[in-house]
Amino acid sequence: MTYHTPKAVIIIFGATGDLANRKLYPSLYRLYRNGKLSENFAVIGVARRPLTNEDFRNNIKKSIEEFNDPHINPDDFASHFHYNPFDVQDLTHYQKLNAFINELDEKHETDGNRLFYLAMAPNFFGTIAANLKSQGVTNNTGWTRLIIEKPFGHNFETAQQLNNQIRHAFDEDQIYRIDHYLGKDMIQNIEVVRFANALFEPLWNNHYISNIQVTSSETLGVEERGRYYDESGALRDMVQNHMLQMVSLLAMEPPARLNPDDIRYEKIKVLRSLKEINENDVDQYFVRGQYDRGEINGKELDAYRESNGVDPDSNTETYVAAKFMIDNFRWAGVPFYVRTGKRMAKKSTEIVIQFKDLPINLYKEKGDTIDPNLLVIQAHPDEKITLHLNAKKGDYDTTSKPITMYYDKKHAEDSYTPEAYEVLLNDCLHGDSTNFVHWDEVALSWKYIDIISNAWEGNKAAFPNYTSGTCGPKAGDELLGANGHHWWKL
Ligand code: NAP
Repeated sequence: MTYHTPKAVIIIFGATGDLANRKLYPSLYRLYRNGKLSENFAVIGVARRPLTNEDFRNNIKKSIEEFNDPHINPDDFASHFHYNPFDVQDLTHYQKLNAFINELDEKHETDGNRLFYLAMAPNFFGTIAANLKSQGVTNNTGWTRLIIEKPFGHNFETAQQLNNQIRHAFDEDQIYRIDHYLGKDMIQNIEVVRFANALFEPLWNNHYISNIQVTSSETLGVEERGRYYDESGALRDMVQNHMLQMVSLLAMEPPARLNPDDIRYEKIKVLRSLKEINENDVDQYFVRGQYDRGEINGKELDAYRESNGVDPDSNTETYVAAKFMIDNFRWAGVPFYVRTGKRMAKKSTEIVIQFKDLPINLYKEKGDTIDPNLLVIQAHPDEKITLHLNAKKGDYDTTSKPITMYYDKKHAEDSYTPEAYEVLLNDCLHGDSTNFVHWDEVALSWKYIDIISNAWEGNKAAFPNYTSGTCGPKAGDELLGANGHHWWKL
């Protein structure tokens, strides 16, 4: 798609926060440096603390320090940023903000376009949306878009309440719900690998695929986020959004066209086809874990229940393994295993597609076993696509051995990988909602996840049940073992 450089005033709520400093400003800088932002843009930072424009611009320059690009003067970039001390509860502040946006719109010739980015605690989202509308801040002449951060609700009911509040002020097609996994280069590659290769799509079904495994593991614990995390847990924090999004991309039918509506339609069909489970069956499909003390790289680590802000008797899971079955013609009988956890052996986001075994092994008499073919997509920290095949051993006999063929993005000629937030900000500025989450997806995934969390809430687990620095609880392996499968090594 050919893009014109967008023109807009970008209003960031939560401009002094962690997300803005660590992700949003560096991403805007990369877009600026890569020519994806023209000079016709301005950013208004909104937060309570009384900073001057100069303080704010110094923060911006600090957040882009690492780039140290000789072709770009950081002051030029920072000159697009303006600070507006603000209390989201105070209506007069919205009126002043509106006047300020108009002023910058004129100065930077942004055609009346406004992008509101809510990088604040979710309990403010509804209030901000309502006040923006009631005070006329969304009555602009150009386009109006809203980016909203996760978490989108705590369950279906709270997500619906939040959605109703936001929809009161914004239409669905103006709302861009972030799932930053959808901005990751290798996650976007799932579709390209599937739909741009004659080799895979014909095999992408229950005739040839044995099972699919999706892992997102971290070595870190909850660190300073204990209070938030203890209310959330891995199921809500990771499975409801990121993991189910990856499953949808892996399982969807080819879209009629590569446009947001057609892709979303296919993803929604996957969520609708998830095999229904009831609370009594949850243990057959889901495993939960919580990390105990342990050691990573020789460093002694505390247990989850010993972290700041965490209830010493907490029933919150820091690990989930799940088996999703998709009841449609393409996937009936193929388990989609997902696992995610903190304090695991390795930091990794990866997908393994395991193909079915051959009907016979011609090399058995020579003592060779034939490994299944695997297609592995690694999204983080490595960005690789690996195909595991079998080929002739280098000896005098006709014998076989496993080999791998791989593509490593790091060594590719066009090795620039944009950051997830950079991609998503760029998409939103161009009005492309493909890699954002539609309300129908949020609703379906919460309805499914609520069944599991309800079952778990009424039933205390024997936590802690895995040692920090390992691959999670034994039950996570047994979930696959019951079908004769095993996790491919982390
Ligand atoms: P944070 O560091 O706590 O920042 C919160 C921001 O909100 C600050 O700028 C704060 O500034 C401002 N604020 C708080 N109360 C306010 C009020 N009444 N009026 C105006 N401004 C107010 O939070 P964060 O980590 O950046 O997270 C922001 C959002 O992104 C959350 O929804 C979070 O779940 C999501 N998220 C964050 C990350 C991450 O890596 N940090 C990752 C994924 C999602 P003042 O104190 O100056 O008012």
